[in-house]
Amino acid sequence: MPERSIPKEAAYQIIHDELLLDGNPRLNLASFVTTWMEPECDQLILEAMNKNYVDMDEYPITTELQNRCVNMIAHLFNAPVDEAETAVGVGTVGSSEAIMLAGLAFKKRWQNKRKAEGKPYDKPNIVTGANVQVCWEKFARYFEVELKEVKVREGYYVMDPAKAVEMVDENTICITAILGSTYNGEFEDVKLLNNLLDQNNKRTGWDTPIHVDAASGGFVAPFLSPELVWDFRLPLVKSINVSGHKYGLVYAGVGWVVWRSKEDLPEELIFHINYVGADQPTFTLNFSKGSSQIIAQYYQFLRMGFEGYKNVMQNCMESARQLREGLDRTGSFNIISKEKGIPLVAFAFKDKNKQGLAYKLSKALRHHGWIIPAYNMPPNAEHVTILRVVVREDFGRQLVEKLLSHVKNALNELVDAPAIPRITFTIDVKPGKFIKGDGDEHGGVLHLPRASVYWKQEKPEIVHKEISILMEDQKTKGVC
Ligand SMILES: *Cc1c(COP(=O)(O)O)cnc(C)c1O
Repeated sequence: MPERSIPKEAAYQIIHDELLLDGNPRLNLASFVTTWMEPECDQLILEAMNKNYVDMDEYPITTELQNRCVNMIAHLFNAPVDEAETAVGVGTVGSSEAIMLAGLAFKKRWQNKRKAEGKPYDKPNIVTGANVQVCWEKFARYFEVELKEVKVREGYYVMDPAKAVEMVDENTICITAILGSTYNGEFEDVKLLNNLLDQNNKRTGWDTPIHVDAASGGFVAPFLSPELVWDFRLPLVKSINVSGHKYGLVYAGVGWVVWRSKEDLPEELIFHINYVGADQPTFTLNFSKGSSQIIAQYYQFLRMGFEGYKNVMQNCMESARQLREGLDRTGSFNIISKEKGIPLVAFAFKDKNKQGLAYKLSKALRHHGWIIPAYNMPPNAEHVTILRVVVREDFGRQLVEKLLSHVKNALNELVDAPAIPRITFTIDVKPGKFIKGDGDEHGGVLHLPRASVYWKQEKPEIVHKEISILMEDQKTKGVC
């Protein structure tokens, strides 16, 4: 901390100037998180900046607005609640906090049941796809739950419901399905999962439930695909999380989790605060937080309504289609995202020997200001390197055209670059391993002190000694 104070104008200018070197949020196509809101809402956010959300006694109206948001979301997800009943749910800082809470509820519920049956309750697990977002790994580690991941494969990048049900055992606290895979935006088949799991439950006598991680898709599917059955219409779906700051169209800092009914949220996890004479149940990890994001979410619901959200999502889909078709026309890419799903375009170089070019393309586009990440798919499709463009409300047709022309320019430059030998590898960070190799000249596993590299020889002239491992700029985790 500096010894002396400086004038406020100087402090402002110094920080303002330094921040110019950050990327431009509007051109950050790596992120689902909202980067534009209407000035009227910006105004409300500023007005609420000094309100601590946790002071419910002092700010009862803010609490009321959060409760209304929970109710609207529960109805949007078809929770079985009457008009007179209040839905069970809570506003959080984002889907990560929402997921910690939902996971804890499953763990507690499972433990209570096991205790009552006199069975061991110290080895809980969750079954998910390997395409799961990193916050589930965080949940697993922080709250001591084993994460059992269903591997993906080339051409099929989401959780296979049949394989997921096969992995369930008596210690499984829930299966998590993802509505809008982070990697390619694809919706997992929750309906099929529900049916297969229901059969499994009947056969085994367990009652394994489902959680839907609808962080990105929860505000897309209800507007664009109301016929798609993925939510509380399925009896085994007990809780759903959604990020208000993704397609909920609010700036970073708001998420939601809703439960099917009171029975699905164990009472011992709820804290009851008495506010203005009424009982306000709370269930969050943090105590203090801002109120602005909750108010901004309420603004969006009130201002846009179902119609407004539907229009925005349709527009995003249209921009995504335009981008997908433009990329397809270059002839260089395979499109990895689906036409139905989150409005994003994920694509990989067609040529298997040019997968590594994705990182170079990402870098080349950065020179034009675009932030577009390249990353490897999860196990067992890690040899596929994709680029992902998230289409948000503020990424209009003009910008799509501009991006396409920059991609074409960059492609011309990259084609002249020397070919990169292809190597497929997974970095498995397990400290304590030693350098050794196995396999023959056609493939095997190379064990490094902090990593295992699976390698495969593609062509006779490329021997493994010449293979350079392209680790630079890789980003597989923390993609949000
Ligand atoms: C973004 C995302 C998360 C994490 O959500 P935050 O709101 O960023 O905390 C979790 N799961 C999925 C599928 C996501 O897309």
